[in-house]
Amino acid sequence: MTLTADAATTSAEYIALDERWSTHNYHPLPVVIAEAEGAWVTDVRGRRYLDFLAGYSALNFGHRHPDLVAAAHAQLDRLTLTSRAFHHDQMGLFCRELAELTGTEMVLPMNSGAEAVESAVKVARKWAYQVKGVPAGTAEIVVAGSNFHGRTTTIVSFSTDEVARRDFGPFTPGFRVVEYGDADAIRNAVTDRTAAVLIEPIQGEAGVIVPPDGYLRAIRQICDDNQVLFIADEIQSGLARTGELLASDHEGVRADLYTLGKALGGGIMPVSAVVGRRDVLGVLRPGEHGSTFGGNPLACAIGRAVIKLLATGEFQERSRELGKYLHSRLNELDGVTSVRGRGLWAGVEIAPGGLTGRQASEALAERGVLCKETQDTTLRVAPPLVITRDEIDLGVTALAEVLGANG
Ligand SMILES: *Cc1c(COP(=O)(O)O)cnc(C)c1O
Repeated sequence: MTLTADAATTSAEYIALDERWSTHNYHPLPVVIAEAEGAWVTDVRGRRYLDFLAGYSALNFGHRHPDLVAAAHAQLDRLTLTSRAFHHDQMGLFCRELAELTGTEMVLPMNSGAEAVESAVKVARKWAYQVKGVPAGTAEIVVAGSNFHGRTTTIVSFSTDEVARRDFGPFTPGFRVVEYGDADAIRNAVTDRTAAVLIEPIQGEAGVIVPPDGYLRAIRQICDDNQVLFIADEIQSGLARTGELLASDHEGVRADLYTLGKALGGGIMPVSAVVGRRDVLGVLRPGEHGSTFGGNPLACAIGRAVIKLLATGEFQERSRELGKYLHSRLNELDGVTSVRGRGLWAGVEIAPGGLTGRQASEALAERGVLCKETQDTTLRVAPPLVITRDEIDLGVTALAEVLGANG
C-alpha cells in the first residue's frame, strides 16, 4: 500500500492500516480519533464525539488538561530522561508529593499498571521471606476471581479469564484464587505462607463490580490477624474516579500497598507506582528491581501536576456530585437490569434479549458517544471527571435511544 496519511485519508483507510500492520489484540470501534479536548474527541473526518470512557480512567482529567499539558511542555524544554543511573530534580519531589497525597510512606515509580502490579507481587514475596519468615520459594498471594491486574505472564497466571490465559502458559505458581466479595473465602485461603491479599476495591474490567459493604474492612482485619499484606489495586478505581481519592477510602480502609496507574499519567504518559509502607517497600535493594523509564523526569513532572489537581479535591467532588446524577439518570433507563458503581463510574447491565454490549457501543458511536462494553452485556460508563451535567444528559439520552430502539 502506498498510502500516505494526510487530510484526505479516510477512516476506512486508517483502519485498514491498523489491521494490516498492527497485531490484532484489540477489537476497537470503527472511529479514528485525530484530536481531543476535555470530554470531547474529534475524528479524522471532523466529527465530534462525547468521551464516555476516558481511556478506562487514564483520562480522569479529560483530554489535554491545560495544567497537565503545560507541565509536560515545561519539562520537555528542560530534561526528559536520565535513566536511574543518575538522580534528577523531579523524582524525589514526585515521590514525596505522591506519598503525602495518598498518606503513604514510600513510592516505587514504574510505567504501566501491569508493571506496578508485578512490582507489588515481587515486593510482597520478598517481604514474606525476609520479614515474615515464610520458607524460601513457597510464598502465596490470595487474589479474587474475575480480577483484572494486567497482561504479563505472571499476572495472567492468576486471571480467571480463559481468553486472557489460553495458550500463554506455563503459568507462575504461588497464587490462590477465591470468589470476589467473599471475605470468609479469603480467611480460609490464608495460611502461614500467605504474603498478601491482592484485590481491586471495585472490579472494573469485570463490569464495575462493587463488593458488599464491609468487604475491605474484613480483608484489613484478616491481614492484621495473620501478618499478611493488603494490596489494593487502585489503578482504575483510584485517583478520584469513585468520588474519593482511592476507592478504599469509601470504607475508611488503609491498604499496606496500593498500585496506581492510568490517571497518574494525566492521559499523557504511562506513569504508575506502588505506594505504601516503608517497612515493606524498603525490602528492595539496589539491583533487585527497576525500569529504565520508571520515574523519568517527564513522567514525574506530569505526575506532579496530576497530584496538584487531585490535592484540590475538586475532581473527587465532581465525581461524587455528578456521579449521583449519572447513576440516577442511568437507573431511569428502560432496557437496563442494573447499574453498579460509584461516582462517575458505572457498569450498565443491558437486559436479556436486548443488544449486546458491543452492539450498544457501536450504536452509541453512531450517535456521537464513545463508550465500550466490558463483558458481553455490560457497558462501562466512565466519563472524564471534567464532564458537565448537560454533557451527561447528552450521553444518557443517546444511550436511552440506543436501548429504547431495541426495547
Ligand atoms: C488497567 C489496569 C491494570 C493494568 O494497567 P496497564 O497500564 O494496562 O498495564 C491493572 N489493574 C487494574 C485494576 C487495571 O484497571
